[in-house]
Amino acid sequence: MTDADRVVVVGAGIAGASAADHLARETDAEVLVLERGAAPAAETTARSGAFVGFWGHESPACVPLLRYGIRYYGRLLSTAGSRVRFVHGGRLRLATTPAGDADVRADFESAFGRTVAGSTATATKGAPVQYLSGDTLDETLVLPGLATDEVTGALYSPGVGYVDDPAALARTVLDRARAGGATVETDTTVTDVLTDGGRVTGVRTTEGRRRADAVVAAAGPWNRRLLDTAGVTLPVRNTRGPMLVLDTDEHGLPALYHEESGVYTRQNQDGSLFVGHFPGQYEDASVLDPDSVGDDVPDARRDRSLDVLGRLCPGTRGASVVDEWVGVRTVTPDGDPVLGPTDVDGLSVLAFNANGIQYAPAAGRLVAADVGGFDPGFPTAGVAFDRLG
Ligand SMILES: Cc1cc2nc3c(=O)[nH]c(=O)nc-3n(C[C@H](O)[C@H](O)[C@H](O)COP(=O)(O)OP(=O)(O)OC[C@H]3O[C@@H](n4cnc5c(N)ncnc54)[C@H](O)[C@@H]3O)c2cc1C
Repeated sequence: MTDADRVVVVGAGIAGASAADHLARETDAEVLVLERGAAPAAETTARSGAFVGFWGHESPACVPLLRYGIRYYGRLLSTAGSRVRFVHGGRLRLATTPAGDADVRADFESAFGRTVAGSTATATKGAPVQYLSGDTLDETLVLPGLATDEVTGALYSPGVGYVDDPAALARTVLDRARAGGATVETDTTVTDVLTDGGRVTGVRTTEGRRRADAVVAAAGPWNRRLLDTAGVTLPVRNTRGPMLVLDTDEHGLPALYHEESGVYTRQNQDGSLFVGHFPGQYEDASVLDPDSVGDDVPDARRDRSLDVLGRLCPGTRGASVVDEWVGVRTVTPDGDPVLGPTDVDGLSVLAFNANGIQYAPAAGRLVAADVGGFDPGFPTAGVAFDRLG
């Protein structure tokens, strides 16, 4: 993908928007974004918790990509009239059993290559991360409404915040791409990636064929299906991302993640609380058809999530669920994103491990660098498609 003159980007979520923005501003390519929906960013991106920041467990391959994304969002959201807000507040990963505390502590030790001696330890990866034993939590942070006596250990990541409206974020990025010359066509489904002699020649869509010198698969959980049409196997799996929105008038807390159950929260500025569930990584995932996943959170899942939340934050018991949805995450075998060229000449993919809001800016930069033949400014081998064998 060195001298591409027309690049087709499939999908207008945050990944496609970022790819289009970088391609339009940093290369001479003619950029065409094809989105099957009636509007951009109405799928995984709209259903996201949208946390961005250093959590502490980033791999060496991901650290420079995240630095790039943080700087990109900082600048983007500084522009006058931005309709998107970044909300700080930090994130608290909480264990409530001795085994959970041992896991939290072991993760801290392996992430930072040092032993926790005593009841607190602080280390820095991009931003600081602090290990706190259960009995030091309530003398370190003011946490009204949190049952701190239940907590056996915690990791506090003050650098983590969230984008309040990830769909609006993607639309803002897409507007920049349009201003840079990109074209966006909605209501257009790509049915096949067309190749000839191992090289991309275009795409077949519900609206006819489109010629392309390069194609970027930015179709979220539909990427696997899309790449199949070009004979490329993307070895990713999926998990369901159920989200409940609770109407509470509790105090604001950092975002919470409960180690033993995978239940997490996002405290919104309007007082509402997102309550999500993270079921685990690749080993706990399966291949899902994203079109078969509806927006109703199953009753058993809802009951378990609310039960955990009620134990951690007793004041939320009885709060009403005012909205809910289920998104489909993509997860990769080694937990890092899969970004850039595939085995087919001219065909790239942007696939994330459940954290595409964080890594979309770097993904866009990587694609533009590949098309434009310049150095993206960070190493890419650790996130390359071919590392998966
Ligand atoms: C519940 C939940 C919580 C999350 N929390 C976070 C978080 O805190 N932080 C974070 O960084 N990430 C988080 N994520 C992950 C993040 O939301 C995703 O990684 C990211 O939104 C993926 O963006 P995308 O553009 O790749 O996919 P999508 O947003 O799904 O966009 C893909 C687009 O491609 C279109 N498309 C698909 N097939 C075709 C086709 N054949 N032709 C044309 N168009 C097509 C779709 O309609 C869609 O608009 C979360 C995800 C979920 C589900």
